[in-house]
Amino acid sequence: MRFSPLLEELIESLRSLPGVGPKTAQRMAFQLLTRGREKGKRIAHMLNLGMEGIGHCQRCRTFCEAEHCAICLAPQRDSSLLCIVENPIDMMVIEQMNIFKGFYFVLMGHLSPLDGIGPEDIGIPELAQRLTNSSISEVILATNPTVEGEATAHYISELAKQQPQIKVTRIAHGVPLGGELEYIDGGTLAHAFTGRGEV
Ligand code: ZN
Repeated sequence: MRFSPLLEELIESLRSLPGVGPKTAQRMAFQLLTRGREKGKRIAHMLNLGMEGIGHCQRCRTFCEAEHCAICLAPQRDSSLLCIVENPIDMMVIEQMNIFKGFYFVLMGHLSPLDGIGPEDIGIPELAQRLTNSSISEVILATNPTVEGEATAHYISELAKQQPQIKVTRIAHGVPLGGELEYIDGGTLAHAFTGRGEV
């Protein structure tokens, strides 16, 4: 048996959300239609606003609805330090530790040739530009310690080393192999960050 066409489409749309299977999508649709229509409309409205209005910071590439994000605009930060992370969550996690006062560059992913994700897709041309144009003296590679994260870190370290004044470091100690930064507790990450080594 199939539901009415619109309901089928609604379930199908919900199913395309990350981590949502067919049963969950059905349950979500029924619950919203039965007892949560106002909530459903609010979600739809916010999705619409978010998808239209949230872009990327033109400096660090994190999600942002203005030209530049608050971190890139902060005047008291140290412009000689640039930390490279894979995604905005990692940037937030490092910010919450309160031990890093430089700027960030957010790759929005990692190199993954098998998935067709190359240097252009993770902002390498913009990063290369940034490395030549500024007073950066240290690049801290804080990509995830996964195979792809390591390969990405290696690629960027080769790029950064073309600038003789730049020291390239990689966070290391305490971060488990195969782990992802967003799931690591603050203490472990703080240790990894302060114990970073030159690569
Ligand atoms: Zn920014």
